[in-house]
Amino acid sequence: MKVGIIGAGQLGQMLALAGYPLALQFRFLDSSADAPGAQVAPIVVGAFDDISALRRLADGVDLVTYEFENVPVSALQEMAAKRPCFPPVDALRVSQDRVLEKELFGRLGIPTPPYRAVDSLAELEAAVEALGLPCVLKTRRLGYDGRGQRVLRRRADVGPAWEALGGAPLILEGFVKFDREVSIVGARSTRGETRVYPIVTNTHREGILRVTVAPTRAARLQRAAETYLRRVIDHFDYAGVLTLEFFVDRGRMVANEMAPRVHNSGHWTIEGAVTSQFENHLRAILGLPLGDTRAVGHAAMVNYIGRMPDRSRILGLPGTHHHDYGKAPRAGRKLGHCTVVARTATERDALLARLLRLVAR
Ligand code: AMP
Repeated sequence: MKVGIIGAGQLGQMLALAGYPLALQFRFLDSSADAPGAQVAPIVVGAFDDISALRRLADGVDLVTYEFENVPVSALQEMAAKRPCFPPVDALRVSQDRVLEKELFGRLGIPTPPYRAVDSLAELEAAVEALGLPCVLKTRRLGYDGRGQRVLRRRADVGPAWEALGGAPLILEGFVKFDREVSIVGARSTRGETRVYPIVTNTHREGILRVTVAPTRAARLQRAAETYLRRVIDHFDYAGVLTLEFFVDRGRMVANEMAPRVHNSGHWTIEGAVTSQFENHLRAILGLPLGDTRAVGHAAMVNYIGRMPDRSRILGLPGTHHHDYGKAPRAGRKLGHCTVVARTATERDALLARLLRLVAR
């Protein structure tokens, strides 16, 4: 069985690595011949909307999945006409537009920050008036890792933010003074089986995920997150892994966004859960029984951003799992990550503190 993966970044690389024990084979589509996936499977080199490249990918595989959200919907539709393609194209379409995403959450009874769609400076000024300061201006589409966002704290920020982002369709969101950020990852198989991982706590800096601590034992938040995730899964008749990110605002879950794919906040599951998100994504799209999603201990995952730490020092810490994606260093770029798993939360926190010191050196 050969699986085609649109995108050969680190998520694709880790999907393939999870699939080899299941005797799966892989082929990627990516615009770059030396993307991380090149280390583990052949890449069809071409743009994501290059019809002939998409055909070449489809011709050699049994089914297709994708590992990032900015695949053009038309390309995925083209693919879905040739080969089974998961997660559903409609989930991708909605996840690409922050306004559609929030409208869907609203219809499904999932709380969101207050928001307004913004297409002109006049609309931005009216939206700032309606939502109040501070607030966050974001591009509706193609934003990731904090790109395409500005926090507006004062009236004087409105003009420069419009200068920087105006021109593209925008969304203005009320600023959530969250206690913390959590996410939930779950999988539904083509046979309708659903399994959900424990919620995790995420720390971002400059809009980029830095640290995930897992699991977060908070029964009420877990129940709410699971309920909301299942609503989205049912809505799309979903297959594959789906992630929802939330702000926790005075104990209340407020949805930020969804990702119809394996997610950075789920990397801890490779060593920290019985079955990883990557294996469960593959099981889900192949219609295989899903694996146990329980945590096997207390885990923390730290992203390597912009610069790789000294590998020997990281490996010298007890219980570390070092992942180097093989990417060229660049400011703000996710180059790898490290997960520690311990028997207790106290031990995990001590290990995490040592790991963070090494990564900061
Ligand atoms: P996003 O690209 O929407 O995931 O935003 C990246 C990060 O920016 C989030 O994880 C938050 O830390 C922060 N952020 C985004 N939107 C808001 C908001 N409405 N209120 C407060 N912080 C936000």
